[in-house]
Amino acid sequence: MSIVSVIGAGFSGISAATYLASAGYQVHVFEKNNVPGGRARQLVTESGYTFDMGPSWYWMPDVFERYFGDFGYSVSDFYSLKRLDPSFDVVFGKNDTTHIPDRYTSLRSLFEEIEPGSAKRLDQFMEEAEYKYKTGMESLVYKPGISISEFADLELMKGVFRLQVFSSFSKHIRNYFTHPKLIAPMEFPILFLGALPENTPALYSLMNYAGLKLGTHYPEGGFGSVVKAMVDLAKMKGVTFHYNANVEKIEIKHNEANALLVDGKLFPCDAIVAAADYHHVETKLLPSKYRNYTEEYWSKKTFAPSSLIFYLGFNKKIPSLQHHTLFFDEDLTLHSKEIYTDPQWPTKPLFYACCASRSDETIVPNGHESIFFLCPLHLD
Ligand SMILES: Cc1cc2nc3c(=O)[nH]c(=O)nc-3n(C[C@H](O)[C@H](O)[C@H](O)COP(=O)(O)OP(=O)(O)OC[C@H]3O[C@@H](n4cnc5c(N)ncnc54)[C@H](O)[C@@H]3O)c2cc1C
Repeated sequence: MSIVSVIGAGFSGISAATYLASAGYQVHVFEKNNVPGGRARQLVTESGYTFDMGPSWYWMPDVFERYFGDFGYSVSDFYSLKRLDPSFDVVFGKNDTTHIPDRYTSLRSLFEEIEPGSAKRLDQFMEEAEYKYKTGMESLVYKPGISISEFADLELMKGVFRLQVFSSFSKHIRNYFTHPKLIAPMEFPILFLGALPENTPALYSLMNYAGLKLGTHYPEGGFGSVVKAMVDLAKMKGVTFHYNANVEKIEIKHNEANALLVDGKLFPCDAIVAAADYHHVETKLLPSKYRNYTEEYWSKKTFAPSSLIFYLGFNKKIPSLQHHTLFFDEDLTLHSKEIYTDPQWPTKPLFYACCASRSDETIVPNGHESIFFLCPLHLD
């Protein structure tokens, strides 16, 4: 049986390993940390707090359902999901908070209240966004990406202008809405992508459909439950996980990857899937003659912003805080500029607070609260 080595036990590595094991390969995953999950791993403190270290917004539940469905399971076989209402709060100033409701009818009413006439425009906006989501997922995301001919699809060709790959997100939003209190919650998902809304294609309004129509969910136990579910499934398919296993080099002989150097020891295999950051794999693990890009190429690339995150435990409840709260009480444009266009320490930082214990008592000691504060930053 052919042996495949996978570098990294984040979502992508676990998922690649599971599909490969299911297809009959003998699969070994090498993970440098002592736990799986990568950016989605959890911090469990001695004092009884569990923090999701990275992801906290569970959007696009259909993607997770499809994943487990590919192996004959459903999400509910592994963990429970809670749909949050309000989906999230946006704080614009002292005593000035907007609750973004989960129900679309309530969302329409909120829009209409803030900007008369905007409910109808929200319907039109969402109709476009739904088209982009469905076409984008089916015709782009789920394609294997091996050949350009995969995209020679008549429907896709016809819809290419409707997908708005060439116009800006920022302009698109402003064609529909003018009030800053409507623009802010619509634009914030774009900041996750690592670019300014004016430099992001309007295609990404599909994220508004994902967030505002398909709902904001919470996996009970936190994102660690998703990681555990994926690892359990991978093991059921026969995947072997090696933790505290730092891959130092990909060995290539006769133009074929044939071994991994893991903590000074060679691990022979027939194929390798690198599911760690591309830049790291190219510049640190691959012998230079096999690299696709030069350092100069990488130095010109803009990576997603860094984040300063505080994981805090409180020995009391904070009822005024919802599960997700965006603090937009300072100038969003200025903060965005200080990340992307004129990188510097933010003058007046905006931040996001995640109070998952609001939805889940199991992740904190009784009567306590856990909050993580995230402030996006530019760091060299
Ligand atoms: C602060 C933050 C907040 C986020 N919030 C959200 C959110 O709310 N919703 C959402 O959907 N997404 C969110 N994301 C994005 C999401 O977490 C990532 O897209 C996802 O976890 C990436 O998974 P991955 O498997 O591709 O990479 P990773 O999780 O980075 O996994 C790569 C793995 O490879 C391992 N590795 C690297 N190099 C080596 C080596 N040489 N040898 C062995 N192992 C190695 C790493 O330790 C890691 O475990 C957030 C990310 C961050 C950082």
